[in-house]
Amino acid sequence: MLSEADTIARLCTACGLCCNGVLFADVELQAEDDASALEKLGLPVKRLKTKTKMPQPCAALNGCLCRNYAQRPSRCRTFECLQLLKVKSGETAPDNALTHIRKARQLAERAEHFLKELGHNHPKLSLSQRYRRCVRDAENGGWRTEQLETLAELQMIVHKLTAMLQREFYP
Ligand code: SF4
Ligand code: SF4
Repeated sequence: MLSEADTIARLCTACGLCCNGVLFADVELQAEDDASALEKLGLPVKRLKTKTKMPQPCAALNGCLCRNYAQRPSRCRTFECLQLLKVKSGETAPDNALTHIRKARQLAERAEHFLKELGHNHPKLSLSQRYRRCVRDAENGGWRTEQLETLAELQMIVHKLTAMLQREFYP
């Protein structure tokens, strides 16, 4: 069995789905996290009435790597997706987990592609936020047939991706 460090290195450096706005829309900061220190590092922090959050896609993400790894928030330190947990426990092989990661990333890339075509490519919003805005936009009416066809393809991909994330990634 791989060591914990090797497992994380192998899977997470090929993935980034819990940082890039596909699995989550933000990271909620905890009492032990220093929001001001994160801001000093150039990371945007949203202060709401009862919560403080770092929006995703995370500004610290560089490819699939965290450029703030040593000072990442506690939620980032403790989160383990289902694939990671299964590989760590020996329930699944790393190559099997990597196949799921590749498939989920491919679906997310296709969704990004259709969102871009439909003019919803805001790089600071999560995939689900962009998708919701896109659907609202379509509901307001006035879309051409080709746009509606692209939306139908997008909806199919998002449906597949959501099912896969629920089944294979959320712990
Ligand atoms: S989703 Fe899982 S495998 Fe991917 S980066 Fe996050 S913890 Fe690692
Ligand atoms: S701080 Fe690092 S680990 Fe946390 S969401 Fe951002 S890129 Fe991911």
